[in-house]
Amino acid sequence: MAKHKTHYEDCDVLVVGGGMAGTGATFEARHWGRDMKIICVEKANIDRSGAVAQGLYAINCYMGMQWGENQPEDHVRYARNDLMGMVREDLGYDMARHVDSTVHMFDEWGLPMMKNEKTGRYLREGKWQIMIHGESYKPIVAEAAKKSADKIYNRIMITHLLMDEAQENRVGGAVGFNMRTGDYHVFRSKTVIVAAGGASHIFKPRAVGEGMGRTWYAPWSNGSAYALPIAVGAKMTQMENRIVLCRFKDGYGPVGAYFLHLKTYTQNANGENYEKKWYDQTKELVGEYIDHHPTPTCLRNHAFIQETIAGGGPIHMVTTEAFQDPHLETVGWENFLGMTVGQAVVWASQNIDPKYTNPELTTSEPYVMGSHATCSGAWVSGPEDLSPPEYFWGYNRMLTIDGLFGAGDTVGGSAHKFSSGSFTEGRLAAKAAVKYINDQKAEGIKVTDKQCEDFKVAIFKPLETYQVAQNEITGGTVSPSYISPIQGLQRLQRIMDEYVGGIATNYMTNGNMLKRGLELLAWLEEDLEKVGAEDLHQLMRAWELKHRALTSQCVTEHTMFREETRWPGYYYRGDHMKLDDDNWHCLTVSRRDPKTGKFSLEKVPVYHIVDENEKKKAS
Ligand SMILES: Cc1cc2nc3c(=O)[nH]c(=O)nc-3n(C[C@H](O)[C@H](O)[C@H](O)COP(=O)(O)OP(=O)(O)OC[C@H]3O[C@@H](n4cnc5c(N)ncnc54)[C@H](O)[C@@H]3O)c2cc1C
Repeated sequence: MAKHKTHYEDCDVLVVGGGMAGTGATFEARHWGRDMKIICVEKANIDRSGAVAQGLYAINCYMGMQWGENQPEDHVRYARNDLMGMVREDLGYDMARHVDSTVHMFDEWGLPMMKNEKTGRYLREGKWQIMIHGESYKPIVAEAAKKSADKIYNRIMITHLLMDEAQENRVGGAVGFNMRTGDYHVFRSKTVIVAAGGASHIFKPRAVGEGMGRTWYAPWSNGSAYALPIAVGAKMTQMENRIVLCRFKDGYGPVGAYFLHLKTYTQNANGENYEKKWYDQTKELVGEYIDHHPTPTCLRNHAFIQETIAGGGPIHMVTTEAFQDPHLETVGWENFLGMTVGQAVVWASQNIDPKYTNPELTTSEPYVMGSHATCSGAWVSGPEDLSPPEYFWGYNRMLTIDGLFGAGDTVGGSAHKFSSGSFTEGRLAAKAAVKYINDQKAEGIKVTDKQCEDFKVAIFKPLETYQVAQNEITGGTVSPSYISPIQGLQRLQRIMDEYVGGIATNYMTNGNMLKRGLELLAWLEEDLEKVGAEDLHQLMRAWELKHRALTSQCVTEHTMFREETRWPGYYYRGDHMKLDDDNWHCLTVSRRDPKTGKFSLEKVPVYHIVDENEKKKAS
């Protein structure tokens, strides 16, 4: 242990993850906490980290309230509709009422925004999206965070949260290690804001072998946002609501600009509009939800998946019409060059020019996240002025652990935040964290050296395991005494894929499969005590895997609990194939007991605040 030097840092606000939400939190913490010590710790380098690392071509959440384009209520209705009714409307409204101010700051900070030449307004891609030249989106928001923080630590992976030993259920900071130096870092903090993104690579990806890193969701997002709070007993919500994306095949290039701006459309291999064909069958499953406008994302996936199973594939995006217009052709290519260069490379390698050939689409493997057309994540308090009692316990975006806050993909129940909404949620969380400190809620936190030393031993154990066990290898990489991170990851992905509703089963699962999946995950957990790491990079992989495995357990428990198929197209419970509003028009909330490792689940009412308030006003 002596070779891993220990560094201590004491601070007021610790931000874990410097992506969109983390940079927003760091920026806003300084605004409210002028004299406070604010630290942001990032696994990569905040200039190019998180889901926005490559840049974006659109800001997907902008109300346009200054021009009367949309109001927060409209966005709540939109997200509620897309998630088949299951959202936290207090959180969604709160984000929506503040998101425009965030976007206006991005504009001031130099993010190139496209403008509508006729109106002078931001150029709309769709009702909620505005178009940007966003290759440098991430460095721009990172600069704001760098100017706000006392210190940004790059290349440190946070592995555990520290807990206060003086007062039960209160956070005391976090620990992690530097992936370049191998040093151990202890951050004792009055508040912690977890903003560590979502989770890819927990389900087996379509691209395996040489293409394994090619997923839609950022491959480096490994579920720390969920594992860190789950491990200390924080409540989680809607973890079954994993997302499946319809994207361009193999490169996972985005389709938003194509559908909304280029007005391209999809068809099956025979040139038919297949979505219509599945209307009656979908209505059987979900009732009137199929008549909602816009059609919920999962139901569009459902038609795609059913058509493919029925032999109507491959499904194509019809680009050949739009691309005859030179302006739209340019937009189509720039869309990739600003955010997913890989798709252009895939097309080049497959001899696809979308002007002459309609490219194929695919449905992705599932991902866990809280900011897109999905809302898995932590169960947090909402804002005081909006939230019903069950949704409010003192501080906005505080988890069920005192002093522990969340934002972005970390937070459950608030879908369709995207980049701007995640940054906004970071701001909201930071404001509340500063208030928590000013209210003297963080006095007398005790974190003993023993707690820190115990974590140090646990963190570096995979290096020790490898050191000892490598001598037992007689050939190749298979050891009788340890498993490598990649072996463990592939085992995890197969369990999730085959038992929890991945691509292997066309997203189908049932109670028996989930039960078996949980058994296999429990054995994996046991074996992960013996994961070995040959160097610091593999040590990071080992901890990423442990976080993915814990996240997976939570996803599986939730999927088992909700005995209905609420989101066909995201996953199917074969033993409960229909949406069941009588029994399941509710949110699911779980808690893992840190002492026993056992999960308990409960139903929590979903309140339709927006239209309820309007109904009350009218009566
Ligand atoms: C492919 C793709 C396309 C998208 N397109 C759009 C779009 O066009 N428009 C739009 O508005 N939004 C888009 N989004 C959504 C947007 O990117 C996310 O909503 C947003 O990035 C979420 O913010 P976040 O801070 O929660 O996560 P992220 O921005 O991903 O940040 C998480 C950060 O945490 C760090 N981290 C993870 N684990 C640890 C750890 N253990 N210790 C320390 N640091 C850690 C990561 O390195 C990362 O920097 C897209 C997302 C994806 C994946």
